[in-house]
Amino acid sequence: MDWTLTIDDISDTQLEQALSLAHVPTLMATLMHLQGSCDPLRGDIRPHVTQLAEEEDGLSEGARDKARKLALAAIIAHRDAGCPALPTPDDAMVTETMQYITGVPFPEEQLELMREELNLLGEDRRRVNVDTVSVPAGYRVLVIGSGMSGILAAIRLQQAGIDYLLVDKNPEIGGTWYENTYPGCQVDSANHLYNYIFEPNHQWPAHFSDRKTLFNYFQGVAQRHDVRAHARLNTRVTSSTYDESSNCWRVDFEDSQGRTTQDSFSAVIAACGQLNTPAMPDIPGVDSFQGITFHSARWEHQHDLSGKRVAVIGTGCSATQFVPAIADQTGQMTVFQRSPNWLLPVEEYHQPVSEEELWCFRNLPFYARWYRFFLFRARAIDGLLPYLYGEEDWQGQPLSVSPKNAELREAMEAYIREQAGDDLALADALVPNYPPGGKRPVLDDGSWISTLKRDNVTLETSPIAEIIPEGIRTADGAIHEFDVIIYGTGFHADHFLLPIQFTGRDGRDLHDTWQGDPQAYMGITVPGFPNLYLLYGPNTNIVVGASIIFFSECEMRYIMGCLKMQFEQGLASLEVREAICREYNDSMDERNRMCAWGSPHVSSWYKNANGRVSQNWPGTHFEYWRQTKKPDPGDFLAH
Ligand code: NAP
Repeated sequence: MDWTLTIDDISDTQLEQALSLAHVPTLMATLMHLQGSCDPLRGDIRPHVTQLAEEEDGLSEGARDKARKLALAAIIAHRDAGCPALPTPDDAMVTETMQYITGVPFPEEQLELMREELNLLGEDRRRVNVDTVSVPAGYRVLVIGSGMSGILAAIRLQQAGIDYLLVDKNPEIGGTWYENTYPGCQVDSANHLYNYIFEPNHQWPAHFSDRKTLFNYFQGVAQRHDVRAHARLNTRVTSSTYDESSNCWRVDFEDSQGRTTQDSFSAVIAACGQLNTPAMPDIPGVDSFQGITFHSARWEHQHDLSGKRVAVIGTGCSATQFVPAIADQTGQMTVFQRSPNWLLPVEEYHQPVSEEELWCFRNLPFYARWYRFFLFRARAIDGLLPYLYGEEDWQGQPLSVSPKNAELREAMEAYIREQAGDDLALADALVPNYPPGGKRPVLDDGSWISTLKRDNVTLETSPIAEIIPEGIRTADGAIHEFDVIIYGTGFHADHFLLPIQFTGRDGRDLHDTWQGDPQAYMGITVPGFPNLYLLYGPNTNIVVGASIIFFSECEMRYIMGCLKMQFEQGLASLEVREAICREYNDSMDERNRMCAWGSPHVSSWYKNANGRVSQNWPGTHFEYWRQTKKPDPGDFLAH
């Protein structure tokens, strides 16, 4: 079939075929536009999304058929009428459709967020416009890091007419999507949500596309917004010192040849990421292995793994992506598991988006925007979060943190056991002894456990005692010989902004101030460090939900709000008040303590060396959106 046809010239049969794979609640939203009425939404085709339900939209097959027939008739009528322009639905119709699409009501107070996220007419309400006349002459911002957040910062500054320099230590823009090239690397957030609100892509080749596709997306966005013209690559920031007399940051750079330069900036936005300093495990003898060895984030593609005896250490999100991708090449593979991960079933995890679906995204009126909105509602608002909150005197610890969490545990354990089948020992080894949500769950379509069940793959659960020249010695005394050891051992997530030295007001050193326990107000600003802003800073990571891009967009709106406030009020610097930041972080700690990831029985990259949850945001997406919408002048010391 020719899927380049548009609605104008597609046949009834082909249209029917396209709709057979369309997402039904989204199709109903398109029907609302076509009919200019919410009447079709008021009948018996009513989605109801619950995270624990097997069917994502909660509709019966009969209801789906009925919806498809209604939509087919309406689209044929639209086509036969020559595809006239559709009237813009009024606010009440949009709200009713927003309420309809997941079948779960949302409170009135969330309406503004919902409208912003739906972005029906491409309004981009997260953009902050600045009166360029108010921008002081020579005002220039340094953005450190050109990953997803850094590119966003660059674009927002550019849109506001603020001069900036974007630096990155790498030779390419792209951050994590440039650095992680391991086999099987793909995004583990729904891809139709994992894109900027102002640069939607509705033509993802897969529901969870591979890293090359993501890398190309970010490169493409950067190119369209001319970010490269402001970028200096192969350049590290080594230190940055706040000069109180000029209210500027004096920044030292070093390029890949070791040449150093210095420059001054009115403000610094650090978009350095949380997950980019590979962590090697603290195992005796780690340097003694004589074979090939590398970390997943620094994959050495030159090695042919065919027939090799390969050890993998770690079973987190990275390992569970690359192990299934390479298992068939290796001669024999042993996966060393210290603790198992919870698996979150996602059927379409490795599925391409079909031609039919791609056609719907391209052609059906407003279908793509409503699909993204459906994902946002289903994942971010009505998502798993309520299942991850704990109850104070719950007796189910350490296995669960609340009755709802126990319910989730039961469903997730059943999934693992079903996958493991008759192999009860494997099932027992794979069921975590900590609450669901304690660590980031691994998305799974069955590929993890089916890989572990392969004849050439062994799951080793005896702890690693030592790495030796020929391989690994486990605590049970066994010697395992290998040709290759691959470390899927994650990142030093809590090393925020390291190794850059930041010296703030009164000569205060940022890392000395933090003492290994990074804290910031809203994850964005730090007392004593005026005009310094962080993206994806402390306590801004999400465990489940929409995508981290949503958080970066909220953070960047807040930062732009700070700059705007500073310009409009003619302030030379803005610095968050110490007490405000402390109070905020006390509340973070209190709330994180009550979450599954705050359980004292869990250790993960969500916690820093002090055992404090320094990475995660404990609230809802709505709460973070609300608190970052606009800075409160009262939170700041202004000079
Ligand atoms: P990780 O989740 O921190 O996993 C590290 C693994 O190494 C864990 O299984 C850990 O075991 C194990 N490990 C660490 N030190 C060890 C030691 N001394 N001995 C034995 N095992 C050891 O790291 P990751 O898999 O790289 O994932 C990090 C985060 O990156 C993810 O949570 C996710 O947010 C993100 N990520 C995203 C994507 C994506 O979207 N495409 C892909 C990959 C990663 P324990 O659990 O017992 O500590």
